[in-house]
Amino acid sequence: MVKSDGCLYLVGTPIGNLEDISLRAIRILKEVDVIACEDTRETLKLLNHLGISKKMISYQKYSENEKKSHLIDLVEAGNKIALVSDAGMPGISDPGEILVREAWVRGVKVEVIPGPSAVISGLVVSGLPSTNFYFHGFLPKGKIKEREEVVNNLKEIRATLIFYITPHSVEKDLQLFLKILGNRNGVIARELTKYYEEVIRGTLEELIEIVKIRTLKGEMVLILEGNQLIPKEMSLEDQYKLYQLMLASGIKSKDVIKTISADYKVSKNKLYEYILEKKEK
Ligand code: SAM
Repeated sequence: MVKSDGCLYLVGTPIGNLEDISLRAIRILKEVDVIACEDTRETLKLLNHLGISKKMISYQKYSENEKKSHLIDLVEAGNKIALVSDAGMPGISDPGEILVREAWVRGVKVEVIPGPSAVISGLVVSGLPSTNFYFHGFLPKGKIKEREEVVNNLKEIRATLIFYITPHSVEKDLQLFLKILGNRNGVIARELTKYYEEVIRGTLEELIEIVKIRTLKGEMVLILEGNQLIPKEMSLEDQYKLYQLMLASGIKSKDVIKTISADYKVSKNKLYEYILEKKEK
């Protein structure tokens, strides 16, 4: 049940080119009472460009939990709040998810105003298969073991893989992918929608050669071909691991089982029974 006239709007903003803001996003940014944003200086640039003057509240990753109640209190009291991030869609490797969950829990209205996102823009410009894809976001910054484990878990995925990478770690990340995933085709989509936009295609080995010679600056998405090799025999435990991974990305259990069975030529029933066994333990 929705409790008031207030609403939390999730507003997509440009990932570089300010012309990419939608008409609806402009209207909502004008109409709301408050804009919750990451870096107020970044959002101010956008608002100045649009000729909008509006109260801003900073809402950063590190303070998401702490500030969520206050923002939802405001919505509950009848205010309209827009959540934006520095660029792209809020909630995609940016603050948002926690606030939206809180809004649903407390029964306040949430609406999305879709806009550009680097993950989708990178995928479609890459030319790699886009029917099925798996977005991972950033690799963990932590220890190499932790990063290796994450990539290892993605090894079997046949869908195209998408990562956010930084100039600072691009060579290190490419080396890690090569070591664990093998020499797959990939694309670095850099500075999309901006003056220095560039799409670099090659195998992982070729991409590594390029980043050794050139210092790639700016914002980048890495798109990698999914696993094209059908393993001779995939164990039930590996099928189960893949099942859990795909489930966590929001696909329905029934569909995950169907996909694994079709992709790896394994029995749907056996996998289903194995999942039940695991649940009983
Ligand atoms: N919420 C954003 C979205 O919807 O895409 C992503 C925010 S995340 C903190 C920032 C990362 O997105 C960058 O480090 C880069 O990997 C990617 N990114 C953002 N803008 C980009 C652009 N114009 N070109 C390529 N990658 C971009």
